[in-house]
Amino acid sequence: KFISLEGGEGVGKSTQARLLAERIEAAGHKVLLTREPGGTKGAEAIRSLLLDPEGEGWGSEAEMLLFAAARADHVARLIHPALSAGEWVICDRFIDSTRAYQGGGAGLSDAAILDLHRIGCAGLLPDVTLLIEVSSEESAKRLAARDKGKSDRIGGRAVEYHARVNAAFSALADAEPGRFKRIDGMGSPDEIHRRILDAIGSMVPT
Ligand code: C5P
Repeated sequence: KFISLEGGEGVGKSTQARLLAERIEAAGHKVLLTREPGGTKGAEAIRSLLLDPEGEGWGSEAEMLLFAAARADHVARLIHPALSAGEWVICDRFIDSTRAYQGGGAGLSDAAILDLHRIGCAGLLPDVTLLIEVSSEESAKRLAARDKGKSDRIGGRAVEYHARVNAAFSALADAEPGRFKRIDGMGSPDEIHRRILDAIGSMVPT
């Protein structure tokens, strides 16, 4: 089974990915816990290019292509082999992040993003995507706390950019209610973990 976690900045995706992986491992299953951009040597190298605070920044198209390249490497070397071996894969961000950030945020075509995904990753989609959501006020608060002093680049984009990202995530969840589970991201990590288990219910082994 393949589960992705999605959402804006600072919603607690990484913590929840870890808690979910621990829970499934405790039930005796092998779990690959991984993240995007990254997961493999090549994809981590692309991650540092994308997030380099000393770099000159990327145009939206180059950024989209770098994310697609990182994802293709990650799927080919890690995710696909793990799924073929019958393991669980829990991934902190996947294709929906590109659709929300480079699509919704930066305005690139969703059809083009999906074309690249078919080329790079044979169109692989998670069985379940957990969208962790907080209110726009809360999201603005977390962004401001995180972005203090950063320039207007990845990690320091305008508040309106992130508002478009959140709206795009929400639209993706509406368009694919079978794959997406919306999770309220307010509360303690334990409370959010409970909500996730409730949402995916019988899918999680006991
Ligand atoms: O998930 P994490 O916060 O580690 O993501 C690293 C950064 O990459 C974030 O600032 C996120 O906004 C950005 N990102 C992006 N486009 C994606 C995925 C992540 O701009 N498709």
